Amino acid sequence: MIGDAALSAFSVFFMQSPSFLDDQRRMQKERGRNNAGSLFGVHQIPSTQQIGNLLDPISRTHLDAVFMNLVDAAHQQGALETHRQADGRLLIALDGTEYHGSCAIGCPQCSTRTLNSGQTQFYHVAITPVIVAPGQSDVFPLPAAFVHPQDGQEKQDCELSAAKRWLQQWGEHTASWRTTLLGDDLYCHQPFCEHVLAQGCAFLFVCLPTSHQLLYEWVADFERNGEVSTLVKTRWTGRERLTNTYRWLNDLPLRDGDDALRVGWCELTTTDAQGRVLYHNAWASSEPVSAENVVAFVAAGRSRWKVENENNNTLKTQGYHFEHNYGHGKQHLASLLASLILLAFLVHTLLDRLDLAYRAVRRELPSRRTFFEHLRALTQYLYFRLLGAAV
Ligand SMILES: [Zn+2]
Repeated sequence: MIGDAALSAFSVFFMQSPSFLDDQRRMQKERGRNNAGSLFGVHQIPSTQQIGNLLDPISRTHLDAVFMNLVDAAHQQGALETHRQADGRLLIALDGTEYHGSCAIGCPQCSTRTLNSGQTQFYHVAITPVIVAPGQSDVFPLPAAFVHPQDGQEKQDCELSAAKRWLQQWGEHTASWRTTLLGDDLYCHQPFCEHVLAQGCAFLFVCLPTSHQLLYEWVADFERNGEVSTLVKTRWTGRERLTNTYRWLNDLPLRDGDDALRVGWCELTTTDAQGRVLYHNAWASSEPVSAENVVAFVAAGRSRWKVENENNNTLKTQGYHFEHNYGHGKQHLASLLASLILLAFLVHTLLDRLDLAYRAVRRELPSRRTFFEHLRALTQYLYFRLLGAAV
């Protein structure tokens, strides 16, 4: 029964169709068979309420191994090679996303905050690590780390604690693929960076002057002596000429004190023909920065924003959408459903990489949305079975 509930919820996320199970119940009634059974292995489709009730006690940690087995298999099949950087590494972007927020609906696993109005708001935050690469639209979600209410009140502390738990559990495993972790300035502090290195990963974290005063004093010293390595590149966008100025240094202290980690540092400033600054950011790196790799490092650092665009948006928009159906639960339902949404997203990416038929059909259609609209229409009216499966 629990298996049927989990497969049913997954099928809805996979098909991107809140009405998929209703359609299949109707087909079952009319024809004695349905696509939830033939395509997803659901023996008997539970009601929406049953799905929520059956899944609420189930911890999403049961799904972690599914994510990792799939990504490991993709790795072995060479499906991640397009995402490897010139230095042979894969990039894993860490980012926090809020996927539930409500003053009316909460559970004991919710974090809480007091709004200006005095109302208490319940919310959930997850760190969603994702394999990304500059110039690649595909992203591969890994198991998420969920913020617990006991992680505290401060946003930064909570996300750091959840990210530490994730590293503890998966750092070594992902290090075996040769990985660099990407993340915001909040990760760019010695204890967390040491943690990353201890697990065998490299890091490239946003490094802001406000939180790295000593490091930027060193940068200023080198600047005064004219010793900051600089590379200037101009490019024509088709509309205007932009100038990218890369600067970098190595062996800078991440913090005060004799035991400070020494890091590489790189910076990008993009200006237009009038000299206006259009973009500026800087990163600290566990690996040395050089004229050969600075452009790639900056591109890697910037590719982190893909997570926001792809993965987390999926979680946010669909999370809200689907919670409406299954409810919020009292125990694990919210994080389990979020994990199932991410898992469906991962399977879509893998199919697109590894399944020629899926890829061909997806490419024929103008958008992802149209693709799922067609799937929805087809599976509503026609019965399909997997190739090679018994009727
Ligand atoms: Zn909750």
